[in-house]
Amino acid sequence: MLVHQILKSKGSEGVFTVKPGTLVSEAVKLLAEKRIGTVIVSQDGETPNGILSERDIVRELGKRGAGCLSHSIDAYMTADVVTCGPDDDAVGVLEKMTEGRFRHMPVMADGKLVGLISLGDTVKARLSELAMEKNALEGMIMGH
Ligand code: AMP
Repeated sequence: MLVHQILKSKGSEGVFTVKPGTLVSEAVKLLAEKRIGTVIVSQDGETPNGILSERDIVRELGKRGAGCLSHSIDAYMTADVVTCGPDDDAVGVLEKMTEGRFRHMPVMADGKLVGLISLGDTVKARLSELAMEKNALEGMIMGH
């Protein structure tokens, strides 16, 4: 299973981005409205400057209290973003997410942001692929 197949199965809802300098409270509103766990920080909507996850926000709320909601997200996002490409294999992406202990991976094609896949999307795709392989093997063994 390749990353572009996972993106296709997710449907057409694009990637949500916010610009650097956005307030944490605005990012929280977007995460809640869109029911998502992470947002890409990008000045031009194509190149990621960082990624901000609900975990980053919860950590700052724990450290600084609710005052962090009026701060800019720039200091709280992860600037060193790990990305994948549309032709990468889902298993490699799962390995990178597991090693890096994160659950989201922006997808880049020709240097531009084209999608975002989550750990959940990737596990779901891999499970359905394994189920199909199992059916095919059972069919071969049973001689169907
Ligand atoms: P997550 O598990 O995706 O909610 O994120 C956990 C932590 O990893 C947070 O600090 C995120 O900012 C960071 N993070 C999430 N996705 C990525 C990624 N693709 N590359 C680098 N860091 C990430």
